[in-house]
Amino acid sequence: MGSRFGYAYRHELWMDDEIMERYAPPAYPSRSATGHSQWIWYEFRTKFVVEDEEGTRTALGSEMFNACCFSDMHLLFVMGGRLWDEYWMTLDEAQTLCLSAMEFAREREAFHPTLAVVPVVVEIEVCTVQQAGEAITATFDRAIQPDRLRPISLHIVEGTEPCPVGPVPSSYLRRLPKIRVESVEQGWDLMDVCGICSRGATVGDRVTHLKCNHAFHLHCAVKWLMGSKFCPSCNAQEYNRWPRSDKTNIVLEKSGSTTCSLTYLDL
Ligand SMILES: [Zn+2]
Ligand SMILES: [Zn+2]
Repeated sequence: MGSRFGYAYRHELWMDDEIMERYAPPAYPSRSATGHSQWIWYEFRTKFVVEDEEGTRTALGSEMFNACCFSDMHLLFVMGGRLWDEYWMTLDEAQTLCLSAMEFAREREAFHPTLAVVPVVVEIEVCTVQQAGEAITATFDRAIQPDRLRPISLHIVEGTEPCPVGPVPSSYLRRLPKIRVESVEQGWDLMDVCGICSRGATVGDRVTHLKCNHAFHLHCAVKWLMGSKFCPSCNAQEYNRWPRSDKTNIVLEKSGSTTCSLTYLDL
């Protein structure tokens, strides 16, 4: 198992009763049918940093979200997708991290059999590392950071999310084409400059095309389409159905068997 060139990941796991003060207790039926009597409540805390050649570290922000999962498969799906797609971990790394979180939770579950909910903190550091010969501005430009990620709501299992918000439903946003930029030359080929943020496409970025063929960073297009159904460059209509709901709250509430919400914290 190894990280992608120029990126490094670390994680720590611990049990923390205090996190449950932030969440409503899960009102789910007994888990005995699945062979477990306790619920596992995961709180994921991710810090994004850049490390230069001298080892000086610069924080780029953080994100925190929680998941109370009905089954381990839900955790793999929701969290594994975030790690792989947004933090750009290799599949091996994403899977290993999820499996170690599950294993840790199972051990604590066995050790505290009277707890109804086992609260587990998963702290992750996503580090973009300056490479020999690389200008530090280039390192920052390709850095993985919160404002270049798609909202966590797009990782929720299809069909379990609340009604769509804004002009374009999340199921549509989730299915936008996405190409991961693997080389500088590929970035140039895909897009001169993003018409939303005015940056080019650097290694690690994901680029999407709207129906009019205009290209944007995926996260820029998603954020734009949460407020508009038209292309920001040519005004062509990207999505042609009005929302079925007038909901304006984008925070995900308890939905089906998985709960998830996203907040930004200064960790
Ligand atoms: Zn952009
Ligand atoms: Zn367009």
